[in-house]
Amino acid sequence: MTRHELAHPPAPVGGPPRHVPRPVPRAPRRSGRRPTAFLLVTAAVLLTAVFGVYPLLDRGDAPVVRAVDQVLDQARSGSGSTGVAGGDIPDGVATLDDDLPAITNLDADLTAAVREAAADAADDGIDFWVTSGWRSPAYQQRLLDQAVRQYGSLEVARERVSTPELSEHVSGKAVDIGPTEGAYWLIQHGAEYGLCQVYSNEIWHFELLTKPGGTCPALLENAGG
Ligand SMILES: [Zn+2]
Repeated sequence: MTRHELAHPPAPVGGPPRHVPRPVPRAPRRSGRRPTAFLLVTAAVLLTAVFGVYPLLDRGDAPVVRAVDQVLDQARSGSGSTGVAGGDIPDGVATLDDDLPAITNLDADLTAAVREAAADAADDGIDFWVTSGWRSPAYQQRLLDQAVRQYGSLEVARERVSTPELSEHVSGKAVDIGPTEGAYWLIQHGAEYGLCQVYSNEIWHFELLTKPGGTCPALLENAGG
């Protein structure tokens, strides 16, 4: 019998069927279905972790929890914490009466001092306003990121923009004042209200650093110093 005949046995012609080995049925292929099931289970576990178990966790105990917290907060706040909710002043200038987070989140003592100074400046024929007030950490970080792109290095950027951890804007204890003549008025008279210029390269930035009528501390060279 040749190999050809073995591979193709002749069809039986009547009589008892000859024994023809039947092809062994192959096991059903499951390998294609397992990854799908695995992905579904993984997705279910992740969704449960984020939306089910997550609210039950003790907040703030692990960096990953804080990171998730931040992402969810930003998702909830729509425009995110770098917009008006994060301290942006849409028109570029604001008064102390504006209902903006940049103003309402300022330290109350600072607001009162600037308000009093602004009234007296107006009596001198000088109007000034707030160009930047309270900022969220995310907004401060965005300003720093922009400065890094503008000045080409973090080192130079830090001379002009502070980090979210260090900025007194984030703690609500700093205001930037404009226009220039208003800032100069406040440099000259601010100490009467406890308001001080802080950095020699920022004529617009003021903090409450002395008592009314006191003496302001010596200027720092810049925000990075
Ligand atoms: Zn400032």
